[in-house]
Amino acid sequence: MAQLLTILVSGMAGLMVGSFLNVVVYRLPKRMSVVEPPSHCPSCETRLTLVDLVPVLSWVWLRGKCRHCGARISVRYPLVELSTGVLCAAAAGALGSVWPLPSVAVVVVCAVGASIVDADGGAVPFAFAVVSALAAVALLPIAIVLGHTDRLIWAALGVLLGSLGAFFGDRAGDSQRWTRIALLACLAWTAGWLWPGGGPFVAAWIVVATAATGLGAARRAPLAMLAAGAVAAVLASALISRP
Ligand SMILES: [Zn+2]
Repeated sequence: MAQLLTILVSGMAGLMVGSFLNVVVYRLPKRMSVVEPPSHCPSCETRLTLVDLVPVLSWVWLRGKCRHCGARISVRYPLVELSTGVLCAAAAGALGSVWPLPSVAVVVVCAVGASIVDADGGAVPFAFAVVSALAAVALLPIAIVLGHTDRLIWAALGVLLGSLGAFFGDRAGDSQRWTRIALLACLAWTAGWLWPGGGPFVAAWIVVATAATGLGAARRAPLAMLAAGAVAAVLASALISRP
């Protein structure tokens, strides 16, 4: 029962975080403030109220149109909210303990945000890597207190392999390289902490995917593809390691 409540609350929190993430991925690459001005319709500039801002439901209720001017609102907004909601609920369901949940959720949300900016062709803000790394480091004392030190070895192995894969496979060679490597290392670390073997699974995916795109015409593997593959690798390792 308590577990179900945690999953529900995490899912709701994830939906609201997703709503804020929509603002962050739009404004941060443009070096705009994420709090000022308040959310408004990009067409008629009417300030949005609570009715317009309920995650997913507002979009469905208003049939993807602005309430004031009728301008279309991209389906991307509810999709981002839905994906962070589902991922946070899934993390709560997988973890069984609430202590590591905030850290894991932050790493996952940062990966989603960075992937969107990357897919848009913008420069991935370094802030995503910093926040993600802080959350990943916070898992260390929690793991020791909960007695999961064995998992830390898998997590560390994941970070090592994943970073090497991202470093050698990613030929971007620009200022974003370290941001991308830090984000992927955090994902591998979190995965290794969630399930024994999860980190190396994610790392293997990063190595193979970056090497494959490195051989092709693409200058680098899209973060969205790497992050989605990392989630799939985590699920696969969870199924395999299930007793
Ligand atoms: Zn409008």
